[in-house]
Amino acid sequence: MGTILVIAEHEGGQLKLATLSAVACAAKIAAEAGGAFEVLVLGENLGGVAEALRHYGAANVLAADHSAFKLPVADKFAQAIAHVARERGVTMVVAAASTFSKDILPRAAALLDAGMLSDVVEATRAGDDFVFKRVMFAGNVIATVQLEGAVKFLTVRAAAFAQPAKSASQSPVVNHSFDAAQLPAFAESAGCAAKVAGRPDSTEARIVVSGGRAIKNAEDFERLVGGLADALGAAVGSSRALVDSGITPNSLQVGQTGKIVAPDLYLAVGISGAIQHLAGMKDTKVIVAINKDPDAPIFEVADYGLVADVYTAVPELTEKLKK
Ligand SMILES: Cc1cc2nc3c(=O)[nH]c(=O)nc-3n(C[C@H](O)[C@H](O)[C@H](O)COP(=O)(O)OP(=O)(O)OC[C@H]3O[C@@H](n4cnc5c(N)ncnc54)[C@H](O)[C@@H]3O)c2cc1C
Repeated sequence: MGTILVIAEHEGGQLKLATLSAVACAAKIAAEAGGAFEVLVLGENLGGVAEALRHYGAANVLAADHSAFKLPVADKFAQAIAHVARERGVTMVVAAASTFSKDILPRAAALLDAGMLSDVVEATRAGDDFVFKRVMFAGNVIATVQLEGAVKFLTVRAAAFAQPAKSASQSPVVNHSFDAAQLPAFAESAGCAAKVAGRPDSTEARIVVSGGRAIKNAEDFERLVGGLADALGAAVGSSRALVDSGITPNSLQVGQTGKIVAPDLYLAVGISGAIQHLAGMKDTKVIVAINKDPDAPIFEVADYGLVADVYTAVPELTEKLKK
């Protein structure tokens, strides 16, 4: 097997932790197949991110540092990834399953006429090749799939591949220059809106507090869910019911059609536990549910459950945590 290329993701000068799960998957496949892996990071002013990537066993960290990559415009990134994959003779491209890779990786795969699998949770050696398990239908089906072709593209679920520990050795950083004139110019990014409230991203956070239809309005959401999250240093999330009723922004939605999170602790505040919501958080290590209905389906997946009204239980819990 040839080299595997991992595509790194970053934001605000920080490496996204989900990238390390992609690194773990690539390292496993490379170790079992007797190959190596490299990491490609695209962006502008990449010094800190490239440095952070040096400690995870990559043969090289390829840094494409250019103003054309300031923001992840899919056409440009896809072409750059396809170019590097061709140039380095890679046989597999791996990234974390995320909004970033959903947008970019299939385009890069198409440019190379390569097959692609998303949401991979397992990679097993099968002769000279690998078979992959991937989740489908909101996690109700696990498909076992083999990819044809000389180059294979994968995105991997963060919870499925434990993030590797930092090693003392350091991978070399190789600056990879691009002629921006060769990149597609159909779309340019006009800017990027800053995140609200300064809370962590739910896909990166160790603790996520999510609110559901029990919360009646945006002020109550901020006070109850936001207040509890801040007491725990946690990210906030929400069910689709609150997004659909305009109480929370779409960016907070957890679930099949929202974000997939896998924190150490997930607090479901007044969420019933519909299958589409569970699809986004059931890989959490410890689930805590607060719901006034003892028969709510969320209690079937919860490790700890509190049958209570969120309007009384959450302020009490928040006060105790603050102390
Ligand atoms: C194709 C498709 C995709 C979908 N994708 C998603 C998705 O990505 N994410 C998602 O979340 N949903 C998604 N849904 C919607 C999903 O089916 C549910 O409708 C939604 O998750 C319900 O949200 P909820 O649990 O907040 O509300 P409800 O199901 O109405 O549950 C509210 C819960 O709050 C409890 N409660 C009410 N008042 C209180 C109180 N005062 N104190 C304590 N508990 C209280 C109730 O007992 C109830 O269990 C999708 C649906 C479809 C069809």
